[in-house]
Amino acid sequence: HAKRTGKGQYRFFHETMAIKAKKRLEMETYMHNAVANNELCLYYQPVMEVASGRLIGAEALMRWESPQLGFLPPNDFIPLAEDNGLINQFGEWAIREVCRQHKAWQQLGLGNLAIAVNLSSLQFNQASFIPMVAGIIKEFGGNPTFLTFELTESMIMADTDNILEKLNNLKDLGIKLALDDFGTGYSSLRYLNRFPLDTLKIDRSFVKGLPDNADAAAIVSAILAMAKALNLDTIAEGVETQQQKAFLQNTSCHAVQGFYFSKPIPVAEFHRYWEKQKAVS
Ligand code: C2E
Ligand code: MG
Ligand code: MG
Ligand code: MG
Repeated sequence: HAKRTGKGQYRFFHETMAIKAKKRLEMETYMHNAVANNELCLYYQPVMEVASGRLIGAEALMRWESPQLGFLPPNDFIPLAEDNGLINQFGEWAIREVCRQHKAWQQLGLGNLAIAVNLSSLQFNQASFIPMVAGIIKEFGGNPTFLTFELTESMIMADTDNILEKLNNLKDLGIKLALDDFGTGYSSLRYLNRFPLDTLKIDRSFVKGLPDNADAAAIVSAILAMAKALNLDTIAEGVETQQQKAFLQNTSCHAVQGFYFSKPIPVAEFHRYWEKQKAVS
């Protein structure tokens, strides 16, 4: 009997793997046409200055609206796009799209909001990455004072010696650099100084415990003190409550983003959020 159960379980496992592989293959097929068919879009999450409560920027977050597979968040398709290399095409699209969007906002007279876009390490490590970015910047007139690239710790701690050069190239193009999900990777603190970073984004796993969890409170306070000493800007991610916001205000965190203010929202909704903000401030 036990043997039969075992065999059944094995077959079940086997079929699940087959279904997974089939779904993956299906997704991959549709994915190849996502950019050409205009199925990718960017949602924008407001970034608020803590001291003033004003809207100062937005993080652009990718979504895939697949006619066949439905609405997909990045965690559902970016890992596969990284495996098959399509992330390079997706990432290039995202950079061009935020530049286009920023220009459109300026033409509408909405103003000059800072916009952050996430990079993948595969994309960053392409030999053609810097020329690609330079090309897009040139397309849009050459002075991207609004633009920040979000990098992860593993991207810049990798054992490649042209990383510093690449980061400097981006800075020379006028792009700001933020270290995303700070504290979750293995940062060597020495690198924080060595690399031309502008902003630390405190990971939401630390913000989550604020203000009651003593460890979380100590870690966030320490990160903020260090950032201040190193002259780095700070954004806390994943702020969901008024209490978290108050803690970050008392510890002089510069900016915050999170569901307490707004989820990432489509462009039309973001416009309304922006207009509403202008009315109150
Ligand atoms: P991330 O860059 O750390 O983005 C923050 C994520 O946290 C977003 O998830 C956002 O919706 C979520 N978030 C924001 N505030 C809160 C909050 O208060 N509570 C909670 N529970 N979550 C919050 P999302 O949009 O699903 O993106 C997930 C990740 O996918 C991003 O993490 C980023 O690493 C990656 N990603 C998104 N867009 C792109 C892109 O264009 N290119 C690349 N390479 N990666 C991207
Ligand atoms: Mg990010
Ligand atoms: Mg993050
Ligand atoms: Mg994250």
